Amino acid sequence: MPALVSAGAQPDPTNGNFWKLVMMLGFFYAPYWWIVIPPALFAMWAQFRLRSTHSEYSQVGTQHGLTGAEVAREILDRNGLSGVPIHEVPGELTDHYDPSKRAVFLSESTAYNTSVAAVGVAAHEVGHAIQHKEAYSMLGLRMALVPVTGIATTVSNLLILLGFFISQLRGLSGFGNTLFLLGIGFFSIFALFQLITLPVEYDASARAKAQLQRLGLVNPSEHEGVDRVLSAAALTYVAAMASAMTQLLQLILVARSRDDNR
Ligand SMILES: [Zn+2]
Repeated sequence: MPALVSAGAQPDPTNGNFWKLVMMLGFFYAPYWWIVIPPALFAMWAQFRLRSTHSEYSQVGTQHGLTGAEVAREILDRNGLSGVPIHEVPGELTDHYDPSKRAVFLSESTAYNTSVAAVGVAAHEVGHAIQHKEAYSMLGLRMALVPVTGIATTVSNLLILLGFFISQLRGLSGFGNTLFLLGIGFFSIFALFQLITLPVEYDASARAKAQLQRLGLVNPSEHEGVDRVLSAAALTYVAAMASAMTQLLQLILVARSRDDNR
């Protein structure tokens, strides 16, 4: 974009399109930019903590000696879910339950390891399958929001950017601001989704721990390890929720400062 920087001249903050653009963007985004820093740091720390806790308990075997896949199968069968298949999924910490396929997906390290970490993660994913079977309301709400959230996220980014640029055009600032506000509205759907994810995840872990104890798949000394791995995993969802909420707050504050400055 060479046209944005005037050749030969020193970039003057008050003169030249490039700097005008930077200042306009700054006007929009600089206020309250620092708000998003703490949750971003928290999210990084939560990821680091999950990886270190998971790798620590990947070295600790269970007395029972069953693999993650065997534990998952056992809990599924004992809960009348023999029809729910267990598939392998590539990657690390990619384990999940897919409600649309009614299937448990375990990563290689979870499926074939007999560690406390593998058993805990496998039981957690089965916890989601049990939620599905019991029509747990929060899971139902989360499932309903999945397709909406996908669209809302894309639309919100587009509206926020478009709203910003259009609001700079002569006579169109009102229209641009409306688009910006609409973008914030769509972003709040994403934030709501992240919020609903929390009870779903904590509930799946609670079910996992109860099943592991009830079926005697972990002994009391191993229970603490399972608890630590699942708590570390849950914390990453807390961090994601905090990030989304803070971004929403920042967008609202920016919109308000736009109003005040007009
Ligand atoms: Zn989960």
